[in-house]
Amino acid sequence: MSFSPIKHRCNFCARSHEEVERLIAGPEHIHICNFCVDLCHSLLQKEEAKDTGLDSQLDFELSFSPRQILQRLDEYVIGQQDAKRVLSVAVYNHYKRIQAADDPIDVELDKSNILLLGPTGCGKTLLAQTLARILDVPICITDATALTEAGYVGEDVENILLRLIQAADGNIERAERGIIYIDEIDKISRKSNSNPSITRDVSGEGVQQALLKIIEGALANVPPQGGRKHPHQEFLQIDTRNILFIVGGTFSGLDEVIRQRIGANSSIGFGSRKETPEAQDDLLGLVSPEDLVQHGMIPEMVGRLPVLVALKPLELDDLVRIMIEPKNALIRQYEHLLSLDNVELVFEDAAMRAAAELALERDTGARGLRSIIESCLLNVMFEAPSHDEINKVVISENVIRGEEPPKVYSRDGGLFDLSGKIDTAA
Ligand code: ADP
Repeated sequence: MSFSPIKHRCNFCARSHEEVERLIAGPEHIHICNFCVDLCHSLLQKEEAKDTGLDSQLDFELSFSPRQILQRLDEYVIGQQDAKRVLSVAVYNHYKRIQAADDPIDVELDKSNILLLGPTGCGKTLLAQTLARILDVPICITDATALTEAGYVGEDVENILLRLIQAADGNIERAERGIIYIDEIDKISRKSNSNPSITRDVSGEGVQQALLKIIEGALANVPPQGGRKHPHQEFLQIDTRNILFIVGGTFSGLDEVIRQRIGANSSIGFGSRKETPEAQDDLLGLVSPEDLVQHGMIPEMVGRLPVLVALKPLELDDLVRIMIEPKNALIRQYEHLLSLDNVELVFEDAAMRAAAELALERDTGARGLRSIIESCLLNVMFEAPSHDEINKVVISENVIRGEEPPKVYSRDGGLFDLSGKIDTAA
């Protein structure tokens, strides 16, 4: 007689005994698994936090593993697989570290702030934004070139913290677990290393020093209205110890620094053979902290950015995929926008390739795509709201190349003369 044991499953998520760590039995063959208990617990905590206005509890550890973070990143960010993997782990560890800090056995875990290196428009900001979205934490995106050290014209470093607090709807505890993304970090290099002719260094090392304070983790006083600090003013106090800092930059010239270091130490001799563009991109993947110092970052700052991630320039196929695949893909956005005016958008495959080729020529990564599409659709978007008869617009590769206007169809099936309309309007 064969005997098959009854397979118990969680009545909430249907996971079997083998798929979970614990399956807790209740009356009448009802079971619940450890994952669902955790989930319920965090839901209750969230409710409680909402009631008390302290919605700062992160249920992150319970709901996401690095693999799950990677899967969610894949929904929004095309390519950059290595970078996404490294980021998933770094971010997972970061929030784990925050939770571990509440543990009685407290092993001090160092913070793993992240440096993203890569060309314009390859997805650095998008990665930071998407991580904040996945983790449901506030994010502030800023540009290092706008910052100045206190006392000079420009934005004080504390204003970044104010913006993060605002992104957290004023909830300081939530802000204290948020993400700050600082772009163009390479533009505040210490000039003396890269350009000896510039002696005055208002926006370089001084700003790095000012930034370092908040990246290292400090209790910062933030003027609630922004702007300069005044004596007798009440300050908001925020602890920056658990804020995750992600900084990004293109670091032009860094490949040369790396090449020199490797060329000098290696028998392969990177500098000695003719390099393909791919080999140049791979060079950035070999970046070391010393290279960054050589490029003009102060060593203390480099020391606070232990996770170095090199992103690759996007290739033609990536650019095409970016237009259609991500959840908020560009073409989907324009389709939706036009559908609100009852206009159907048809973007031919060849047009997508042509747009990707144009973006590659312009060397602005995926950033160029939006303006290419926008300029093709401008006239239609201008006329559609005042012409109900417009039914459909077709974008071909010739339209992208500027060789002909888009084909616009009216509801009766005929062609709608867009150029004529513009002329009469003018
Ligand atoms: P940067 O690397 O200069 O920070 P961004 O992340 O700001 O580039 O990219 C600009 C825009 O281009 C994004 O908003 C997004 O629409 C698109 N984009 C760039 N890289 C990617 C990518 N890898 N996957 C999907 N979209 C991308």
